[in-house]
Amino acid sequence: MSSKGVVQYYFAYRKRIQTYGGFAIIIAIALVTYLVWQTGGIKFVYSHSMYLPVLAAGLIFGLPGGVLFAALAGVALGPWMPIDTSTGELQEPVNWMYRTAYFVLIGGLSGLVNDSFIRYIEYLRWLGRHDLKTKLPNRKLLFEDIDALNSNGFRHRTRGNRCLLMVVSIDNVKQLQGAFGFRVIDQIIKVYSKLLQQHFGKTATLYRTDSNQIAVLKNSCAEDSYTAQKDVIVLLKSTVSFGSYAVYVSTHAGAITISSAHETPETYLQQAEIALAHAYATQQDCVRYSSAIELTAQRSITLLGDLQDALRAKHLTMHYQPKIDLKSNSVCGVEALIRWKHPMYGDIPPSDFIPQAEQSTLILQVTEYVISQVTQQIMDWKAQGVEVPVAINISSHDLMAKGFGAKLLAELERCEIAGKMIEIELTEGSLINDFTHTQIELLRLSKAKIIISVDDFGTGYSSLQYLHRLPISVIKIDRSFIRNLPNGNGGRYIVDAAVTLAKNMGIETLAEGVETPEANAYLRKIGCDSVQGFYYSEALPADKFVEWYRNYEPVAAH
Ligand code: C2E
Ligand code: MG
Ligand code: MG
Repeated sequence: MSSKGVVQYYFAYRKRIQTYGGFAIIIAIALVTYLVWQTGGIKFVYSHSMYLPVLAAGLIFGLPGGVLFAALAGVALGPWMPIDTSTGELQEPVNWMYRTAYFVLIGGLSGLVNDSFIRYIEYLRWLGRHDLKTKLPNRKLLFEDIDALNSNGFRHRTRGNRCLLMVVSIDNVKQLQGAFGFRVIDQIIKVYSKLLQQHFGKTATLYRTDSNQIAVLKNSCAEDSYTAQKDVIVLLKSTVSFGSYAVYVSTHAGAITISSAHETPETYLQQAEIALAHAYATQQDCVRYSSAIELTAQRSITLLGDLQDALRAKHLTMHYQPKIDLKSNSVCGVEALIRWKHPMYGDIPPSDFIPQAEQSTLILQVTEYVISQVTQQIMDWKAQGVEVPVAINISSHDLMAKGFGAKLLAELERCEIAGKMIEIELTEGSLINDFTHTQIELLRLSKAKIIISVDDFGTGYSSLQYLHRLPISVIKIDRSFIRNLPNGNGGRYIVDAAVTLAKNMGIETLAEGVETPEANAYLRKIGCDSVQGFYYSEALPADKFVEWYRNYEPVAAH
């Protein structure tokens, strides 16, 4: 057994070692006493054998045990033991007292060595199981505690009892560290752990399972514990003080109820973290783990891998949805929308992979792909006599990427496509990311006559002040406001206001998701410039669009 193994064994079986060791030491003391008696008394060398059980006592029991057994050994070889058993001559008191003092010294010293060793090992064990900065237990201790529950707890639980494992994570770590340095996260974890402990009560143990993550293990809670605890994030919504600053912290939580010893502790924590990732992705405060969530998570990760392959193999196609000018009823453009037929999952809607791709740099590859497909399409259509501007959806990552505008312009030049044939659709959020950079980039594109529009207008963070300072030509009013037109006051008021406001600012309006003649008529009545939606056509493959375009009769149809 290695020295590490010996230490582990000692700590695991300390009580047992002390019980058996105690008996063994008493027997050893008795045996040495018998040996001294049998070999003729204390004047011979055999009395020194008593140091062995005395040393062992110190090593097994520490200082008090070492002293106690040493005193016992001193008494065993004490006044009653003759110097010479054949003559029966007894020892001088100073003789046996001196020997006992030696025993006590040796037993005490070995006990001290043992105590220091154990304290040191215990400190090392504590270090391995705690976070130094906050003194909170760490991931390793969480695993050990769940293991202990697995092996003891659940066996004694009455039916229906559960144990809740919740992980709470700080999302905006990079921003916080960038602004205030590394210590800010430790400070937030300290504040949050106090709040969480108060909230969950004494039956809960808190762990720092990652630099930005706290786990709560709540024992013996009722079956509906998750329902009772899922609002915990509300508690953490207040700002945290750091020096003289009030710091905004964004948090999400994931939870799992553990009711049996089916899984390993690592799996339970992983499942809680899957729920946490889902909460973050879907912008919910807290999500409870289910196998459906895990499947979705696995699928979205494997999808991103597949997406890369699909881009390389050109398995993604573009569909085109017409935009209609409401004054002339003519087709004033098309929007290019990406389509993916996955070999295993079939048609995958963009909403299932674009948001994920937008969280990584993969979106840059998607946009590059879309631009190359669209420019090729414009050239092909031109050859067929079809000339309509094509809108491309652009993400905030694209706009932030170095040289995005220059690359787009270079591609248009290479394909000899005029700027007015391209429109870029940006969401409100992407416009305010880095305003100065956005402004420079968009001015460069608008100078080349590229049309710039704001997609899904009304759903994001709209600052009219920003819009006013950017070269925006069109706002595309989100389809959620158009759906119930001309009924549904909420949506109608927003649409009315958006159209009026845009007109005053010299910006055109387009209504997305027009599905009915009533909505179409209403939009025309209030002066909306153009529309797009299933009422005219869904997004079509390129050849089908040409067919539709050639058959479209502006005046008669609408
Ligand atoms: P979006 O840019 O707002 O595109 C409009 C979405 O509304 C399209 O969904 C379109 O099919 C749908 N739509 C159009 N008319 C109607 C209607 O009358 N009723 C209803 N219910 N829906 C209508 P799609 O193609 O699923 O795209 C969803 C979103 O995915 C797009 O929203 C856009 O944000 C994103 N997207 C699509 N293609 C691309 C792309 O090539 N690049 C990027 N970055 N994003 C894309
Ligand atoms: Mg769009
Ligand atoms: Mg839209």
